[in-house]
Amino acid sequence: MLPEKITLADRVLQVPPSPTLAVNAKAKALRAAGADILNFSVGEPDLSTPAHVCEAGKQAIDAGHTRYTPVAGIVELREAICARFRKEHGWEYVPEQVQVSCGGKHGLYNIFQAILNPGDEVLIPAPYWVSYPPMVQLAGGTPVIVPLKEENDFDLDPTALAQYATAKTKAIILNSPSNPTGAVYTRASLEAVAKMAYDHGWLVVSDDMYEELTYAEGKIAHILNIDPRLKEQLVISNGVSKSFAMTGWRIGYSVGPIEVIKAMNKIQSQSTSNPAAPSQYAALAALTGPQDFPAQLREAFLPRRAFFVKALRAIKGVTCVNPMGAFYVFPNFSAYFGKSFQGKTIDGSVALADYFLSEAKVASVPGAAFGADAFIRFSFATSMTVIEKGMERIRLALAALQ
Ligand code: GLU
Repeated sequence: MLPEKITLADRVLQVPPSPTLAVNAKAKALRAAGADILNFSVGEPDLSTPAHVCEAGKQAIDAGHTRYTPVAGIVELREAICARFRKEHGWEYVPEQVQVSCGGKHGLYNIFQAILNPGDEVLIPAPYWVSYPPMVQLAGGTPVIVPLKEENDFDLDPTALAQYATAKTKAIILNSPSNPTGAVYTRASLEAVAKMAYDHGWLVVSDDMYEELTYAEGKIAHILNIDPRLKEQLVISNGVSKSFAMTGWRIGYSVGPIEVIKAMNKIQSQSTSNPAAPSQYAALAALTGPQDFPAQLREAFLPRRAFFVKALRAIKGVTCVNPMGAFYVFPNFSAYFGKSFQGKTIDGSVALADYFLSEAKVASVPGAAFGADAFIRFSFATSMTVIEKGMERIRLALAALQ
């Protein structure tokens, strides 16, 4: 017990721990204790980091890259990020406009710490990735949740955004492809939002972490290409975690106006100093070496996505949008809410995900964590065998509800 005077900070009491990481830890602990758990919770590719990237990390250690680096990251990596943006999108940035951080998540944290004051509102389309609202709150801002519609395939909704925007709106978070819905925003919705953002002078935070993992032909629309004038009020967040299966290396990057990046560097200099040096060299190898890995991931994910969506849609009462990017399915199970098992009522996504875990031994993340209680998220970054087995268990568990 802490002595009475040592209370925890109010900011900590406001936010929950990350639910994605919590469910993953619970699933792993149950498995370690001998339970036959199928884990669809946390989102991380099941393929290993490419060998040449691992080799670059090892070589960096051997070459003595084991000390502090510049706060914003090694200049070679920041140059490689600029070169990549130029090649892939035609965007012109200089290394001073890039911050490398301990994962995309940490970059987003730094962005909000750098721009928000108490009372500043941030528009967050829902379903949203679990950490956006707590990050905004931890920075003293106010998350404003804007619901998106399943019947619109969770596309951005400019009309809803206009309803929730106020004079205090300072920023908006975009995430296409989206975690958890897999939605890829349409050009039309992005055009409308680009106009709103430009007219109102909002900072646009574009979380592009799943950019490489899309299932449509060709490149997806990006707000910066739709309205290049937004460059001065846009921060792009990305990283190597998903596209190069490097979640544990913890390397993400943010690219944006020099003033914002400088402010983020000030925060990073007072907190983590810099991301791990060997990881930065590994990320450099990922971004400058062979580029076929994201395509390999896509190839691996395509049949799993097709199977998962079809199997979910085959269950009575379940609807499921076909994800156009990322590696999650986000089915709607609300038809089963109000039913019960052994006298216990399933009153929402948390109860249903608990039921799946305890009775079906299937770990998933309840939609409530993403601001959408009718749904549950399953990651399909796992083997087809596990998906087939998991779907059968889910089907039986739902059938057993009364
Ligand atoms: N972004 C991944 C997920 O949603 C990783 C876990 C996390 O940081 O939330 O599962």
